[in-house]
Amino acid sequence: MGDKDGVHVLLVSFAAQGHINPLLKLGNRLVSKGLHVTLATTEILRQRMLDSKITTKEKNSQIHLEFFSDGMSLDFDRKNNIDYFLEQLEKFGPKNLSSLIETLSVNEGRKFSCIVNNPFVPWVADVAQEHGIPCAMFWIQPCSLYSIYDRFYNNLNQFPTVTNPDKPVDLPGLPLLEKDDLPSFVLPSNPFGGFPKLFSKLFRELEKVNWVLGNSFYELEKDAIESMENLHPIRPIGPLVPSILLGKDLPSDSRMDMWKAEEACINWLDKKPPSSVIYVSFGSIVVLSSKQMENIAWGLKNSKRPFLWAAKPPEHPSSDGSGELPTGFLKETEEQGLVVSWCPQSKVLLHEAVACFVTHCGWNSTLETICTGVPVIAFPQWTDQPTNAKLLVDVFEMGVRVRADEDGMVSKGEVERCIGEVTEGPKAAELRKKAVEWKEAARAAVADGSSDRNIQLFVDDVRCKAMKEL
Ligand code: UDP
Repeated sequence: MGDKDGVHVLLVSFAAQGHINPLLKLGNRLVSKGLHVTLATTEILRQRMLDSKITTKEKNSQIHLEFFSDGMSLDFDRKNNIDYFLEQLEKFGPKNLSSLIETLSVNEGRKFSCIVNNPFVPWVADVAQEHGIPCAMFWIQPCSLYSIYDRFYNNLNQFPTVTNPDKPVDLPGLPLLEKDDLPSFVLPSNPFGGFPKLFSKLFRELEKVNWVLGNSFYELEKDAIESMENLHPIRPIGPLVPSILLGKDLPSDSRMDMWKAEEACINWLDKKPPSSVIYVSFGSIVVLSSKQMENIAWGLKNSKRPFLWAAKPPEHPSSDGSGELPTGFLKETEEQGLVVSWCPQSKVLLHEAVACFVTHCGWNSTLETICTGVPVIAFPQWTDQPTNAKLLVDVFEMGVRVRADEDGMVSKGEVERCIGEVTEGPKAAELRKKAVEWKEAARAAVADGSSDRNIQLFVDDVRCKAMKEL
């Protein structure tokens, strides 16, 4: 293993695209600082990689991959039974992870000096405690969200209630947040039980973790980060994104894709003029209603601009046509646009033909667009996305946000209006200028700036604790 000082760190992740990759990037950073890294996640991810015949860059990396069972059969539909799945994971995950830690220690002498969990597996902190191993939490959303949830789950501020659902929220370090800017889990209308339960456990038991690291950078969220200093401090160490987005293409860069990317879209982009293409993606989880798909489709067509739309078909198609393109759309726009199911997003955002990104504002996509200086049309759906949209538009000032009609639907006219606003005229130039400034700031933070200093402090602390154990 090329052991330098024998300090091993175990990263534990929820098996989702947007969770594994930032943790792998964290693993790369820790390896580059001389630590040994293992990443453990649930068996379903191994199965998905085998099914999709995905070859990952992970095979070449110095990160060990391990899998444990979430207690359910591999063909169980986790996505459409999310609350039940989370319950089962919380029931079986701790036992199975604990045996894995035991096996690696006894059979391979891999003794961990620190365990890093991510927010959707808060019970990992209990497993760490049981084994007497210090634990860090790697917060994979903006630090602003960390601040909102800490104040919400620990009842430190007032939030909308059933009797006062439209109450705006005024929190230190953040702009005034209206109902539509808040993460959906804190709203009385939130229909999901499982995720808020996880977050509630996480934020009420923050004293179980020795460090909180964030996938952001100080300059980007300075006020929100400072507002947490006297509560539960968070140390930003990002953006942890593919190294190619930070101006380097490191061969050791680890990445896992749950779907195979259609590389041919890069050849298609090569033939387009600079800053001409509208790139559209709603990430790996969101499935839009058929009406919303239709409005986006015709809005793109009416904009008369070239577009690249990564529209992953739903894994479990429903009879109401959710997530499907309108009939005839592909034929009608074959000269204008390209639709793929999954694209190499980093390469797309780096491509000079791309003018703007219509995004659901998942935090990974947000960081990726920041690192490439591409302005956005924010089109949030749920969880942290509405708040990320607010940040992109009002704090980072690098995009515009779609406005929904009374029925919650964004019309085709609105899609077309936003495309015009972000691509033409003086406002568009301002947005692009701001986006490019953030790109430079992000690169500086990870090169030898604020994020690099924070990660070094963490590594030194882990080493120091490990030495005391000897
Ligand atoms: N992504 C990709 N190809 C696509 C769409 C998305 O590689 O066609 C990647 C994207 O680069 C990002 C991740 O998938 O790293 C999506 O994570 P995000 O947090 O933005 O959204 P989520 O999928 O978790 O909702």
